[in-house]
This record gives sequence, C-alpha cells and structure tokens, in this order.
Amino acid sequence: MNRLGHIGLALLILSPLLAKFDLNSILIAVALTISPDIDLVLRLEHRKYTHNITFASLVAIGVFMFSRNFWLAFLVLLSILAHIIADLLTLQKFAPLYPFSKKKYALKLFKSNNTAINTAVLLLGIASFAYFSNLDFSAFLRDLTKLI
Ligand SMILES: [Zn+2]
Repeated sequence: MNRLGHIGLALLILSPLLAKFDLNSILIAVALTISPDIDLVLRLEHRKYTHNITFASLVAIGVFMFSRNFWLAFLVLLSILAHIIADLLTLQKFAPLYPFSKKKYALKLFKSNNTAINTAVLLLGIASFAYFSNLDFSAFLRDLTKLI
C-alpha cells in the first residue's frame, strides 16, 4: 500500500475510536502509521526491520516513554499493525514476526501501488473521519469556496 492508502486505512480503523479518545491522539496515531516506511528513507532493506511486530512494539513503547500516555501508545501500536497487515495483502513477501521468525508471507492480492485500491481506502478513511469526528466540515467547505 502507498502512503496515502496507509493513512486512509488508519483513518478508517481509528476514526470510530474518536468517541473514546481525543482527536490529537487519533491524529498522532494516524501520522505514525507511515513510520514503518522509514526504511525507504534510511535505505534499509525494505520491509525487513520496520515491518514487524517488534518495530510496532518499540515505536509504541517509545511513544509511551515520551508521552506517559498508555492509550496513545496503544493507538500507535494499532496504527502500525494496520500498516503491516495492509502490506501483507500486497505482492512483496516479508517477515511480520521478525526477528522471532524469519518466515515470509504475502497474500499477493494486489500491488502496493494499486491506484484504485489506495484511492478507495483513502476516501473511505476520509469518510470515516468525517462521520465520526465532530468537526464542522460545512464551515470548512464554505471557507474553501471563498478561496476559489
Ligand atoms: Zn510499508
């Protein structure tokens, strides 16, 4: 899945939790859903060190140590696990249990850069966020039309 697809999936999964958690925590967790793809920036072997439950747990522990907020760390863990599960649906095999197991998996349902799937998931995520958040989107759209 590409970056926007991952953000859409995190919005889709985490937005219903807005009834329970504050907006900032949800948005921080959504932003950190793309953290596993830091391997591309750091030029590490793609999906080896950062696409597994160990990385997800370490980031969540880091968030907890920084924020002292257990639930924020839990949301970040969920968000990164969603990234890993979404990438498991694509073609490239990787080991989600690394370093405990080096067995690689891929469900090969679609290419990670599939435009239709990434766009659909992003739109569903935005719709989920619009539905579950109490933000006034009508005011936002009014302001937007003034700019055009
Ligand atoms: Zn990824």
